[in-house]
Amino acid sequence: MTPVNSRRRFMLQAATAAVALPMFGQAFAQALKKLPADNATAKALKYVPDAATSKEPTKKPGSACANCQFFTAATGACTLFAGFAVSPKGWCTAWAKKA
Ligand code: SF4
Repeated sequence: MTPVNSRRRFMLQAATAAVALPMFGQAFAQALKKLPADNATAKALKYVPDAATSKEPTKKPGSACANCQFFTAATGACTLFAGFAVSPKGWCTAWAKKA
């Protein structure tokens, strides 16, 4: 392969990646399923999709997934529930204040 062909191929691959990667990220975000209520870990951590409905005495006022360090707002992902999206209004006993 000549240096010109090699450079051309590299530029094409870089351009393809620049277009494809954001689309992959979007597809991944859309691929997250809502955390089911019967998820064993969700039950163990007493997850609720609406923090206001939690009766847990350890729940701090104003705490919710949206201000938890394990929450990723862009995707709704929670580090503790790989592959699932939680509600920004949700809450569980593993809540930890976002730094
Ligand atoms: S760890 Fe945080 S983000 Fe995840 S479900 Fe519990 S409160 Fe929500």
